[in-house]
Amino acid sequence: MSELNLILLGPPGAGKGTQAERLREDFTLPHISTGDMLRAEVTQGSDLGREAKRYMDAGDLVPDEVIISMIIKRVEGPDAAEGFLLDGFPRNEQQADALAEALTGLGRRLSAALLIEVGDDELVRRLAGRRVCVKNPSHIYHVEFDPPKHEDVCDQDGSRLIQRDDDKEETIRRRLQVYHSQTEPLIDYYDRAGQLRRFDGTRDPDEVHARIRATVAALRLEEKL
Ligand code: AMP
Repeated sequence: MSELNLILLGPPGAGKGTQAERLREDFTLPHISTGDMLRAEVTQGSDLGREAKRYMDAGDLVPDEVIISMIIKRVEGPDAAEGFLLDGFPRNEQQADALAEALTGLGRRLSAALLIEVGDDELVRRLAGRRVCVKNPSHIYHVEFDPPKHEDVCDQDGSRLIQRDDDKEETIRRRLQVYHSQTEPLIDYYDRAGQLRRFDGTRDPDEVHARIRATVAALRLEEKL
């Protein structure tokens, strides 16, 4: 098996989206972000989007039934045949089990869970200052740490930058609570399976990227052997 089936694990604001975009280019893997998929549904005003928005605005997890089928379909799709980079999924043990089961059914398995670690105080600072491109949510900025050249304008495509509804202080706190209670147990879950790789997400994004890229390159070599 030479495919790379990867999960990016870590709290909201750890830099999963930023790193996923870079790794997508390094290894030509599809970046599958459940948050971006859900926000696209919200923008389209679909039934799923309307249902999901209530949970997202509260900082809670969208029910598993909705998310699991959405992701499994995507992982089984043709562009993920050589592997994938999952960002924001799984977020609890049921989702992790569902993913493992789907992969087993396809005769595939997870290559690694890449954990990006950052403490809560730093996360609140990052999320509260985060701005995203209204047209392409993977164009991400920070008012203080990574400002655009012109205020509120995306450097990459000139679109307007906005603050995500769930990046407001009160919702941020709730999202972190949800992370600690529901998603953090997955660290142990993947560690026990021998699939966990840890990265210090407080370092410079270029350095985090270099470290993850080296790990993924080594994994790919192992997969080819
Ligand atoms: P994110 O962009 O990954 O921070 O996701 C934003 C919001 O979308 C979360 O706070 C949840 O409400 C929802 N969401 C994203 N991924 C999942 C998931 N795997 N399970 C449940 N809800 C999710």
